[in-house]
Amino acid sequence: MHVKGWVKSSLLDYPGKIAASLFCGGCNFRCPHCHNADLVLHPDQQPDLPSDQIWDFLSRRHGLLDGVAISGGEPTLQTDLLPFARRVREMGFLVKLDTNGYRPDVLEAMLDAGLVDYVAMDVKAPLIKYDQAAGVAVDVKRIQHSMALLRRGPVDYEFRTTVVPGLLAEEDILEIGRLVSGVPRFYLQQFVPHNTLNPEMTSRVPYLPERVRAMVDLVAPWVGEVRLRGV
Ligand code: SF4
Repeated sequence: MHVKGWVKSSLLDYPGKIAASLFCGGCNFRCPHCHNADLVLHPDQQPDLPSDQIWDFLSRRHGLLDGVAISGGEPTLQTDLLPFARRVREMGFLVKLDTNGYRPDVLEAMLDAGLVDYVAMDVKAPLIKYDQAAGVAVDVKRIQHSMALLRRGPVDYEFRTTVVPGLLAEEDILEIGRLVSGVPRFYLQQFVPHNTLNPEMTSRVPYLPERVRAMVDLVAPWVGEVRLRGV
């Protein structure tokens, strides 16, 4: 695992749990609004966290941490993700996976092997705008496949959308509502104009909180529950 950074204890990264968060280098998307630009564009310029350090830390956190959130970048690109997650679970911790959903094969393998307890998957835009949102040509069938895998259950999951000004407006949020229809939990996330992959995005002003809150009402009829992050 090419883990480039970590937060040893967080209440924010795994809903309802205390978790360590690990940030893997590299991504198969180039979302202009991504605020992990260095992790995505230059993962080789940052040293890997020694795996011994991670295992040693976790071995001393029983009773203090509930789980480990494996984030990125895009963790499904890591060739040893499955054995890594297996070892975390064998140590008695829950595993949360953050993913953009573009490797449904890896997601399915993790689900089938029972190696993940919670998945947070980005739904970046209406399908017709996915290329623009992801910054690369996207085969949206792969996104739909991952969504279907999560809907199949039984693993707990969320879909989440970052409300990027200039990319997503109210009609897009409505369309995303239709796309995620029926999910138990959906998060709308505030855009953070910091260290963005496209430097021009740093000057883009996030929507006012009241506008983002109003978007909740647009999605609410389609999903079990809508929550806000960063608003
Ligand atoms: S925001 Fe986009 S580019 Fe950044 S890590 Fe997530 S999927 Fe990759």
